[in-house]
Amino acid sequence: MEGIHRAKGFEKIVEPIRLTPQSKLNFQCYPGVPCFKLCCSDLFLPLTPYDILRLRDFLRLTTDEFLLQYTEPFILPKSGLPIARLKMREDEEKTCPFLGEGGCEVYEVRPLACRYYPLGFGLFRNRDEKRNEEFYYLVKEGFCQGLESGPEITVQEYRESQGIPGLEEPIFEWAEIIMRKESLGPIEVPEKSLELFFMVSTNPERFRLFIFESKFLDIFAVDEKTLKEIKEDDLKLLQFGFKWLKSILFGDNLIKKKVDTPVVKKVKPF
Ligand code: SF4
Ligand code: SF4
Repeated sequence: MEGIHRAKGFEKIVEPIRLTPQSKLNFQCYPGVPCFKLCCSDLFLPLTPYDILRLRDFLRLTTDEFLLQYTEPFILPKSGLPIARLKMREDEEKTCPFLGEGGCEVYEVRPLACRYYPLGFGLFRNRDEKRNEEFYYLVKEGFCQGLESGPEITVQEYRESQGIPGLEEPIFEWAEIIMRKESLGPIEVPEKSLELFFMVSTNPERFRLFIFESKFLDIFAVDEKTLKEIKEDDLKLLQFGFKWLKSILFGDNLIKKKVDTPVVKKVKPF
C-alpha cells in the first residue's frame, strides 16, 4: 500500500527500518507546536473506501458530490490500480481542502493516512508462510518538530491513540487486493477490471445500483440476508464488494456464480 507523500523543500527521510507493533518511537503533536499545520499541504493523500464513506457522511454530501468536489483519481504506481485521492487546493501552498485556521476541520473523520503520520504502513505477502505481514516505518521530515519529542510509545499504542485499528480492520480485504496485485508485478489489467475496482473503492451508491439494476443478481448467487444488508448498510456493501472483487480478479470464488461455468484449469488473475 502506498504511504502518504509530502514534498516541501525540506529533507524527507524514510527510515529504512522495518518497525513492528512493539517498536518504540517518541512523538508528540498538539495545536501549539511551532510547525502546526505544516504537514497538511502538498500531499499525496490516498483515500480508503471507508475514508470516503466517513468524510461523505460528515460533510452531508452524496458520494458523487464528495468525489467531484474533493477528490481526483490516481493510479497507484506499484499496483496500477485506480483509487481516489484528496485534491489539494489550488493555492501556492497546495493546502488540504479541510485545513482551517484552527487546524483540521474534519478531525473526527480524518483519513487513515493522516492518522498514521509520521508512520507509514506496508503490507506484503509472505509466500513461504502463505500469510500477509504488516509492517511500519518512520517518515522523518525536517519541518516536523513532534518527532523525537514527547513520551516514548510503541507503534501499537500510537495506532490505538489514533483510532487506526477500528478503521483498518473493515477494509483489510481491500488493502489485500492492492497488495496481491502489487506482488503480481506489471501485468496488464483490462480496462473493465480497473473500472470495477474503482467503482467499489470509491462509490457505494453506484455499486449498489450496479448490483440491483443490472444482470448482477442473475449471474451471482447472493442470499437474502446479504441482499438486505447490502441494500441498507454501505460498509457491508463495501465488504461484499471486496469479496466480489477478489472473486472476479483472482478467482477466489467468495461470491459464487448461479450457473456452474465450465471448469477452468487455472484461474488467471485479471
Ligand atoms: S484531512 Fe485534516 S489532518 Fe489530513 S491533511 Fe487535511 S487538514 Fe490535515
Ligand atoms: S508536529 Fe509534525 S505532525 Fe504535528 S503539526 Fe507539526 S509537522 Fe504536523
